[in-house]
Amino acid sequence: MSTSTLTYDCPRLLLGGEWRTGRHEERSHVRNPATGELLGELGLASSDDLQLALETTQKAFELWRQVPAHERCARLERGVARMRESTERIATLLTLEQGKPLAEARAECAMAADLIKWYAEEARRVYGRVIPGRLPNSRMDVLKFPVGPVAAFSPWNFPLVLSARKIGGALAAGCSIIVKGAEETPASVAAMVDCLNQELPAGVLQLVYGVPSEVSEILIQSPIIRKVTFTGSVPVGRHLAGMAAQHLKRITLELGGHAPVIICGDADLQRAVNLMVQHKFRNAGQACLAPTRFFVEKRIYGDFVDAFGTTVKALRVGAGTASDTQMGPVANTRRQAAVRDLIERSVAMGARLVAGAAPQEGSFVAPTLLVDVPPNAPVLIEEPFGPVASAVSFDSLEHAIAMANNNPYGLSGYLFTDSAKNILSVSERLEVGSLAINGMGVSVPEAPFGGVKDSGYGSESGIEGMEAFLDTKFTHYVA
Ligand code: NAD
Repeated sequence: MSTSTLTYDCPRLLLGGEWRTGRHEERSHVRNPATGELLGELGLASSDDLQLALETTQKAFELWRQVPAHERCARLERGVARMRESTERIATLLTLEQGKPLAEARAECAMAADLIKWYAEEARRVYGRVIPGRLPNSRMDVLKFPVGPVAAFSPWNFPLVLSARKIGGALAAGCSIIVKGAEETPASVAAMVDCLNQELPAGVLQLVYGVPSEVSEILIQSPIIRKVTFTGSVPVGRHLAGMAAQHLKRITLELGGHAPVIICGDADLQRAVNLMVQHKFRNAGQACLAPTRFFVEKRIYGDFVDAFGTTVKALRVGAGTASDTQMGPVANTRRQAAVRDLIERSVAMGARLVAGAAPQEGSFVAPTLLVDVPPNAPVLIEEPFGPVASAVSFDSLEHAIAMANNNPYGLSGYLFTDSAKNILSVSERLEVGSLAINGMGVSVPEAPFGGVKDSGYGSESGIEGMEAFLDTKFTHYVA
């Protein structure tokens, strides 16, 4: 497929230090979600390909772990510079295969570069510590070592950022890594990986696409792999956690969210609405940290519904390649059907549709606001992972916190208030891994990002994210 500026070619697999065509008998079709057009056919990894990836990653690890931290940092920084120079190409590929507006694709590329840059710098600060000896002429050291070859599984919604979190942490820590990217969005990740790979010893970074269940089974069961990291859905996360447990592998799981937003009566309502509409409908709501359940104090609830509804109705929906598009399509057919079904079932249970018209057809789902949602409506329970916001009023903050916590997920949360008392209550008791107060910044390179409850365990980014790729060794010696 070609546009005036770019030819879309499905990438090959980065295996054994070279770009090779996958030898699996099955191939995967990559489509433009805005048009349904076939962009290309993706060759998938066969079991022989995966064996080659495993042998390569083991050898590459022995080499990469010896590379001094300041050189690992320099190489990654040069890769990041290439990524920044290639932003237009990477972002265009991302928009074509994933659907998000070009401005968002560029921002995602910048965020992915920032993440790897931060990890690169952090490579030089993996310190360990010294503990005073218990005996004369003795010392106790706590040392940090790279855990070993990593198998990483990243999804299709933010393919650059969610791969970068894993690649940056692993490589900065001195691990080699095999990334299984999402088969729906292969070219943008391959373009990013190519930028980095040009600065790395062969085999340190490998990229495969395949039949997901085959890839995870082969990689996680292999004794070569020492660490697993996955971003995706709860059912797949549970399955991979089971396999990792069976083989006693460390695993980090980021499994989505259903983020509560508590808006108190004293908040700057228009600011909250402007920020939250932007944040909610970014990437057509296909974001684990998207605000989804709005709990609004009763005295401002009517104003909230009017302001949010008006702003949502004004959003321009269209192909991500059009310059005036503010929200693109829902990325794949299974999600389009799931989101429409969620809206219909919730309306059937009494939720009132203020914006959005269900059911629609095709890959575009209108930005939707459901209000006065009854507590047992599916939209308050199941993660929408689409352009759907729901709103409920509350009388007391206690009640708002209880409703917010009444959900299996616990990834991100948002609070709008000017009251220190409210901030203290919510930050102490809201069951989430990250909380933004009067803003939307729940994920930045230098801070940990991860969830509680069904949202998974472990953190990415920040020093906690780096720690996930390190083993700790205690040494105690007497002279
Ligand atoms: P899904 O369960 O079909 O797949 C989720 C991801 O897991 C995909 O990237 C898929 O390729 C991968 N996968 C599936 N089976 C696998 C296996 N056996 N081994 C390894 N990887 C495997 O869900 P979906 O329809 O792609 O996405 C919808 C749901 O997934 C959403 O409701 C959301 O909860 C979740 N999701 C979350 C995130 C996130 O950022 N946390 C990202 C994407 C999807």
